[in-house]
Amino acid sequence: MRAVSISLLAVALAGAAAAQPPDFAKVEIQVEKVAGNVYVLTGAGGNIGLSIGPGGVVLVDDQFAPLVPRIRQAIRKLTDAPIRFVLNTHWHFDHTGGNAPFAAEATVIAHENVRRRLLLGEPKEVAGNRLEPAPPEALPVITFDQSLTVHLNGEDVRALHYAHGHTDGDSVIFFTRSNVVHMGDDFVTYGFPFVDAASGGSVLGLVENLDAVLAALPEDVKVIPGHGPVSTKADLRKFSEMLRACVARVDAARRAGKSLAQMQRENVLAEYDALGKGFIKTPEWIAQIHGELESGGASVP
Ligand SMILES: [Zn+2]
Repeated sequence: MRAVSISLLAVALAGAAAAQPPDFAKVEIQVEKVAGNVYVLTGAGGNIGLSIGPGGVVLVDDQFAPLVPRIRQAIRKLTDAPIRFVLNTHWHFDHTGGNAPFAAEATVIAHENVRRRLLLGEPKEVAGNRLEPAPPEALPVITFDQSLTVHLNGEDVRALHYAHGHTDGDSVIFFTRSNVVHMGDDFVTYGFPFVDAASGGSVLGLVENLDAVLAALPEDVKVIPGHGPVSTKADLRKFSEMLRACVARVDAARRAGKSLAQMQRENVLAEYDALGKGFIKTPEWIAQIHGELESGGASVP
């Protein structure tokens, strides 16, 4: 296991309340058809996207190493075709933990910043979890700078890099024929999103990225979030509008001369309070946006 202490983030991202390590022995992998030849697998950690066909299987993210035998089993119920490619949406351990075991049979592909962060174990800590450099076999074998497409089973599985959103190595994965998109953690349904500034993430950048993704997506696309149930383009738009509104509220308060402490005390994001009771609490969300605006991040139009 690469992550020495996977408990807090993993549990938070899995949506559980208690800060206990996930009991992998109890995790069941659920399979759901999304559209066309695309499926989503849930267990613990990030949602796994799956494109299947006679030419082989493409996986998007791979959760945790101890779950890989069960993930394989779940895939084998759908197809006997070989697992040929694994794409990582970003470097976090609840999305890349299965890289090492899957590397025995598949080629792991990711944005170059994913490989760099896994290689260095940098930053050393993500949301309170101490991390170590990944073992060599867990590293992506093929990296890309802007975009990369896997052409398989008549489907173009297209990874497109968006800079500085959830991290600085995010890719959104488009299954063009099946009309499905895997958003990685640029879209989550657990409330205010975790934006990993130490890994080059940015709230303002995320808002911009979502604008670009939304402009590119067909209205009837099925959306796989990094965490949470399969969603629609309308859900994604709502999430993006919420982020934009949060930035606008904090920006307006700042321009009105309010300090961060005042904003937190008055709760300038009161209308979104329900979203700030989970992993990311409202005061820290306000502080993160405030910090970005103070450090010269352009306000969002
Ligand atoms: Zn993440």
